[in-house]
Amino acid sequence: MKKNKLYEGKAKILYKGSEPGTLIQHFKDNATANNNEKMEIFEGKGVINNRISEQLFTLLSSIDIPHHFIKRLNMREQLIHEVEIIPLEVVIRNIAAGSLTKRLGIKSGEKLSRTLIEYYFKDDILKDPLVSEDHILTFGWANQNELDEISTLALRINDFLVGYFSALKIELIDFKIEFGRMYKNEEMYIVLADEISPDSCRLWDSETKRKLDKDVFRENSGYLLDGYNEVAKRMGLLIENKASKNSKPTLVKG
Ligand code: UDP
Repeated sequence: MKKNKLYEGKAKILYKGSEPGTLIQHFKDNATANNNEKMEIFEGKGVINNRISEQLFTLLSSIDIPHHFIKRLNMREQLIHEVEIIPLEVVIRNIAAGSLTKRLGIKSGEKLSRTLIEYYFKDDILKDPLVSEDHILTFGWANQNELDEISTLALRINDFLVGYFSALKIELIDFKIEFGRMYKNEEMYIVLADEISPDSCRLWDSETKRKLDKDVFRENSGYLLDGYNEVAKRMGLLIENKASKNSKPTLVKG
């Protein structure tokens, strides 16, 4: 059956779902950085991100975080609720890294005195500029109630993920999430959308501080999927093929 493509982004494609109000989210192997200036294909990245994101969204259900994820359909696709995406990238930071260090001259790796939430306006042409709450309210991208809900959910998600990764000896430095509006029985709910994966998080090994995320691609400092595989392995999503030295790790069936 030919699928009805609704949108193609840098790392994902959205198709119409089988039921009304649902979509299929397809994970591609493309990696981009610096607002598309750099692009490369890493075979299997989409498969790993699909599994990692599935696991994290499923775990977030256990603490009652509302989200768009329904179920994984196959290696690269998941069924999700259709939501009205709020045009904000919500970045939560525990430790200084990336654009924060450049913008404010803070040393990378410095622990922040409190969790910092930043909002970026989702616009490729404008290169996703940092915006304040006042900008968001003035231009109507979200209202005050929605922003309160978004920041409350963002902090709860962060608390959960920091603890989860810390048990895997991984530090959650920062991450980006997106939210959407979902309508049910005439009510509107703010729900977590998009994905959570090493594409959208900074994840450092707690002991060695080795980067296990997309910075490896941004900085050209190694083979990107080594870190992604390590994260998947610690999350219990990979089995090691011990038969041959050169055989690739395999995703656990599920
Ligand atoms: N991030 C993302 N998509 C973007 C920009 C940032 O997923 O378009 C994530 C990034 O992986 C990091 C966090 O958001 O975990 C903070 O990124 P930062 O603002 O430091 O920007 P960068 O240095 O990646 O340009």
